Parts: sequence; structure tokens; C-alpha cells
Amino acid sequence: MPPVHPEPADAAARRSVPPIVCYRVEQLPPYDAAFYGQVRRHMHKVSEVRVAPRDAGTFEVPAGHLFRICSVEGPQVGDLNLWNAHDLNERFFSGKTRQLHATHVSTGDRLWSSLPWLRPLATITHDTLDWYGFDADGAGVHDVIGTRCDPYTNHRLNGVDYHHCCHSNLTRALVQSRGLSLAEAECHVHDVLNVFMCTGFSHGSHQYFMKASPVRPGDFIEFFAETDLLGALSACPGGDCGSSHSDDTTPCHPLLVEIYRPDPVTLKGWQGATPSGYDGSHGLAAHPA
Ligand SMILES: [Zn+2]
Repeated sequence: MPPVHPEPADAAARRSVPPIVCYRVEQLPPYDAAFYGQVRRHMHKVSEVRVAPRDAGTFEVPAGHLFRICSVEGPQVGDLNLWNAHDLNERFFSGKTRQLHATHVSTGDRLWSSLPWLRPLATITHDTLDWYGFDADGAGVHDVIGTRCDPYTNHRLNGVDYHHCCHSNLTRALVQSRGLSLAEAECHVHDVLNVFMCTGFSHGSHQYFMKASPVRPGDFIEFFAETDLLGALSACPGGDCGSSHSDDTTPCHPLLVEIYRPDPVTLKGWQGATPSGYDGSHGLAAHPA
């Protein structure tokens, strides 16, 4: 819709105030490249989970272990959910991760958990696509601006049922791994990290766009588990997300999740992530414990 209100006389002055970064992330503990470098130099693979195209799989990662999401057969986007393995109410908080870091994440960034915990669930320790940066369209990879494809939006737009959107894949995987009812599991599925997905906002309309992922077999993104984690990964029906999603028309490929155990010596002195220190009273003088 074009605007219906005329610009005020001082419109230019109002627009020309300088932007400031919302959060002073430099006040967070800095990424300890020496520590994570040492840990990942002395690790070995202990298990792996292969995620079939248009489906999802779950995996557990003990605190202090690492996991990789790997491209294996062809360009493929993955939708990642993470939970505290002991309490599914604590889950990855895409929106706050975006505010604290950026629209797209890479090595050194953390995946933060939901309120009231707000702690790093995982730290990104390696990203073979870190060379991509932001392209001429303003697109980057590993986005935390979009959410997962889902059958509700698809039905609104196209009027058909499609059962292999990432939201459904993640829900089925959680039902199967935790023995939850469908309703219980669906409530735990949340906004994702769009692994390998190449996205941005279009220059003119600022609409969310996607383009074919630059990922190729051999690429991976690696995470250090700061808490005991349950993860779920969907191999998106959009494949490389270069044309469509929420249908069976696009070529899709599997994804591989690898779990690595470090040498415990390299973890000496490391402590798992702790919840935010906020007292939780929200300004009420007396509040239930
Ligand atoms: Zn998807």
C-alpha cells in the first residue's frame, strides 16, 4: 500500500538520525577461539544420524561435546531445533539470537535459549561457508530471520494439505524420539536456525527472499554443546531452497549429523552455561517461587 499521509516538514531530519546497534554484545564474554580450537583439535566422532530428504531426525549431544551438520549428497537446507535435553520448555530462541548477533550466524556466534533461561545452548565453532558473507542481493547463509516451512501457511496460500514441511517433519521426529503425543510435540517445535539456507530481504520491498544455497557436499557447520542438548533437524522439502518449498517438486538430499567427543583434558576449567541471573520478580514485591 502506498502511504496515505504526507511527509512532515522535518521528515529528512527525522530520518537522518544515526542508527545504533541495539545490544552491546561486547559486554558478553568474548568467543574463546583458543579454547574451542583446542577442544576441536582433540575430538573424535562417536555417532551419526542420517536425516532423509523431506524428513527429520533427532539426536542428543552431551554438554561439552560437539556436533556437525554436514552436506553429503547435494545442496540441501536444514531446519534445526534445539532443546535443553532435560526440559523441552527451554528451547532455541531465534529472535533473541538475531538481536544479539545478526540476521545470519557463523563461527563465534551462540544459539541462545528462550526466557527465562537465556543462556547459550550451543556455540558455533566452525563454518565452511563463512567465506560467503553477504552478497550483492544482501543475502547470507545460516539465517535466523525466517522460520520453518509449515503446513498451515501452505494451506492458507495454496489450499492443499502437504505433510512434509519442516514443521511437520520436526513434530513427527519429536513424537517418535520422546514418545510425546502429537499435540504435546507440536507445541515444542519452534523457530529454527535455517542451516545452509541463503536468504535476505529484497532491496525495494524488504520482503523475505531465498536463493539457491551455496552449500556443496563436504561443507559443514559445527557447534559446541554448552548444555545437554536434544536436537532435531529437518531436511527441508525445498532442497537448496532455490525455487520452491512445501511441495515434492524440488530435488532433495539427505543431511548428516555427526556427534564428536572431545578429549576431557581439553575441557579442564570449562563450566556449562548458566541461566540469566535476573531474579524473575518482574517488579512484583512478592511473587511465587
Ligand atoms: Zn522447510
